[in-house]
Amino acid sequence: MEEDGTKATELFSRGYSFTYDDVIFHPHYIDFPTDAVSLSTRFTRNIRLSIPCVASPMDTVSEAYMAASMAALGGIAIVHSNCTPSQQASIIRAAKSLRLPITPSVSFVSPEDALPASYGRYVFITESGGLPSKLLGYISSSDCDGLRDKQVKLIDYKRDCKTVEYVPWNYDLGKIEGIFEEKKCDFVALERDGEVVNVVMKEDVVRLKGYPKLGAGTVGADGEWMVGAAIGTRESDKKRLEHLVKAGANVIVLDSSQGNSIYQIEMIKFIKKTYPQLDVIGGNVVTMAQAHNLIQAGVDGLRVGMGSGSICTTQEVCAVGRGQATAVYKVSLIAAQHGVPVIADGGISNSGHIVKALALGASTVMMGSFLAGSTEAPGAYEYKNGQRVKEYRGMGSLEAMTKGSDQRYLGDTAKLKIAQGVVGAVADKGSVLKFIPYTMQAVKQGFQDLGASSLPSAHELLKSGTLRLEVRTGAAQAEGGIHGLVSYEKKSF
Ligand code: NAD
Ligand code: IMP
Repeated sequence: MEEDGTKATELFSRGYSFTYDDVIFHPHYIDFPTDAVSLSTRFTRNIRLSIPCVASPMDTVSEAYMAASMAALGGIAIVHSNCTPSQQASIIRAAKSLRLPITPSVSFVSPEDALPASYGRYVFITESGGLPSKLLGYISSSDCDGLRDKQVKLIDYKRDCKTVEYVPWNYDLGKIEGIFEEKKCDFVALERDGEVVNVVMKEDVVRLKGYPKLGAGTVGADGEWMVGAAIGTRESDKKRLEHLVKAGANVIVLDSSQGNSIYQIEMIKFIKKTYPQLDVIGGNVVTMAQAHNLIQAGVDGLRVGMGSGSICTTQEVCAVGRGQATAVYKVSLIAAQHGVPVIADGGISNSGHIVKALALGASTVMMGSFLAGSTEAPGAYEYKNGQRVKEYRGMGSLEAMTKGSDQRYLGDTAKLKIAQGVVGAVADKGSVLKFIPYTMQAVKQGFQDLGASSLPSAHELLKSGTLRLEVRTGAAQAEGGIHGLVSYEKKSF
């Protein structure tokens, strides 16, 4: 038979920087059902995940609720470092205490706070104004409505905590349902070491039960959720790391746009020497030479992507980067030779992009905008042009830098701050506990079309040249999207 399509090695050596949308895979041969596809994968040399999904270390993506939910789904989140070391450590502890990955539908305030602009069925007053903390009292939404226009302190109107049902933090869904049944209460407070770690309403339990059934979660040797943490490469990050290790961080990501630096190489060596059991992910890299240096320094995983993020202006500002499909393919080639898993970071906006990233050699995908705007993402929903949205911002945006990471951008002597990211908003997507399982089902369908029943099988098919690709022309890309309709509604599940 005549040659059809192009082998990856040929396609990616033509001197072009391809993005996911530029390329398309040829379907191959199906001899297994969709459900036979396994998406289980390696995140680092020593950590396995049952789904190839990682939440970005960004302050509008990965805090406690995202971390617990991603781990419950079988993925993992990397807690951002745009806060003090003790705050980051406390987010990690909080995530590990959320055995039931429920994002509370009630609101929390501190004793000093006034009534929030919007609130759930109850407003809880805690010592810290959040969780985990000591519970001081609570007010129902109807009581709150009566206080709306008054300048009052909620603490003066609180109900006593004596009526609250406290249950241990590690109670499962069945036991909590039993408490609701027995005590006829509206909510329970989950407690660990004298602090409330979550408040679960009866309807939260109903909501959780309505989501697709959770598979194998990502649990560490301590029996708690695995949670990753980001750090930088400054001297002060060594102290931060100490806090994070004490809090139980299971893996460290050296969070940089250009990882091939003396700073990162020295930090990798420091971590491997000081905490030999702790896996370290280096990056970001987009070339084989960059990857080679970090592999030699001892990384356990490589994060790939420069300028591919949805909020990113790096390629525009600094004239460096690479199309994400090319970057993932090239770095995966060298990483595979050393048994180092690749994380395809940024540029994921649909399940097809995930299929492409994984088939091109990545073992996981890291997502920011895809997970932002979800129930589990930090921040409150607001309305913009009639649409319910949450803020999503680059960690190199002026706003994020002003909050905490400006030291990184200013350098020690430089005075001028240059942004490499923007602030935006993304639409309410609902819970990751719902849309990630559907997305994984779509990825399995893509794998089935490729004739790959697992990630290693897809990597093997690519390497052997069995999997073929082509570049899509502009017209082919337009044809591959919805076109020619006067109107439509896009519903994926
Ligand atoms: P960074 O901390 O790696 O770099 C900031 C500056 O500090 C650089 O000039 C770097 O060379 C310098 N620096 C780092 N360690 C140093 C040390 N020990 N001594 C002296 N100087 C040192 O952070 P970044 O690359 O600006 O990224 C910040 C955040 O923005 C991260 O969250 C990152 O993921 C994100 N970002 C990502 C991309 C991307 O394309 N993936 C692009 C821009 C920003
Ligand atoms: P997204 O999934 O396309 O939204 O991209 C998320 C990725 O963008 C993150 O994991 C980071 O690698 C990267 N990123 C985060 N903040 C910035 C920024 O300010 N500028 C450029 N890239 C960023």
